Amino acid sequence: MKVVAPYFEILEDLDDQSLAVRIEVCGRICYKSEDKITPESAEPFIRNIIKHGHNSVTEMAVLTLKILYDTESMAIQFFNLMPKFLLVDRVEKKELLVTGSIRAFRELYKSNSTVKMVKAITEYLNSCHPLFYEDLIPARGLLKQEGVLVEKVPLETVESLSAELLAKHRHVAVLFVVNRAITHEIVRHRPVSFLQESQRYCRYSQDKFGNEVTFIKPMFFEKGTDEYSLWEKAMQDTEEIYLKLLGTSSPQAARTVLPNSCKTELITFANLLEWLHIFKLRTSKGAEPSMREVMIPLLHRFQEKYPTIFNGIELNV
Ligand SMILES: Cc1cc2nc3c(=O)[nH]c(=O)nc-3n(C[C@H](O)[C@H](O)[C@H](O)COP(=O)(O)OP(=O)(O)OC[C@H]3O[C@@H](n4cnc5c(N)ncnc54)[C@H](O)[C@@H]3O)c2cc1C
Repeated sequence: MKVVAPYFEILEDLDDQSLAVRIEVCGRICYKSEDKITPESAEPFIRNIIKHGHNSVTEMAVLTLKILYDTESMAIQFFNLMPKFLLVDRVEKKELLVTGSIRAFRELYKSNSTVKMVKAITEYLNSCHPLFYEDLIPARGLLKQEGVLVEKVPLETVESLSAELLAKHRHVAVLFVVNRAITHEIVRHRPVSFLQESQRYCRYSQDKFGNEVTFIKPMFFEKGTDEYSLWEKAMQDTEEIYLKLLGTSSPQAARTVLPNSCKTELITFANLLEWLHIFKLRTSKGAEPSMREVMIPLLHRFQEKYPTIFNGIELNV
């Protein structure tokens, strides 16, 4: 067995990647199949996840659009849809700022394919990213809509928005490598997208996992104490039973003995407004100490990057 300290990584590098690469890199965390990534692997990977309805993977790429329109009735028709999982702001008299994930934009079209503004958004996205629409839209594409202009807002422009708009439209992904009790708490936050290492797909007896189970070092017990020895013994016994069960059963059956201390990886992707809410709850004195162990240093990183949004949080240590 292996024991590692918990950690996090802000996935800033993914912001420079294409939407397809970003989706693949995040999606492969579930299967821990990052070793299968090649310069050509993103497209077939995405086709496959869409075919199998693993749609949450397509939430891992968001984009912001500027929409200029001629007539107010178009905007009213769009607002009347009460578009789900999209962030919409009217920034000028006839200009909207709309942010959403690939999944949200796909489903917007699926449910409202006759609405002019939706058609304009989809026509634009399909022309830039046909991969995400090939199962929904014929190869000849959609007609351009008169009176609506859609264009992508670069990330640098999103970063320079006012604090209020920045908080809603800027999304940040964080990889947590923590124990299962902590991820179970983080996934209670709802306006968020998640992908997690799957104990159903991962067989820890394989070489790529070192033929062993990895556990997160508990912050409650000091190494060298009786408590730590008891914890360590429980993990060793559990690992032995898990590996034995794998001899005759599947990972999904064997995992039933794995404990909260098991290491897992979780990508958490949310806008800054939701991160603010998460930090308020998860760094407070009432939060679980192992949650605070990762959330407090993570908050400090967010405070450095976005002081106007995060500097108001006071920590009671
Ligand atoms: C110290 C602590 C102890 C806890 N103890 C327990 C416990 O014993 N048992 C337990 O089950 N959970 C517990 N939780 C989890 C807690 O109840 C929440 O599920 C979790 O913190 C998610 O936070 P949230 O609901 O405020 O917001 P999120 O899900 O992060 O949502 C953010 C915002 O979205 C809006 N929102 C999202 N969904 C809805 C909705 N359906 N309706 C209306 N508004 C919505 C709200 O405005 C909300 O503020 C605990 C959490 C903490 C921090």
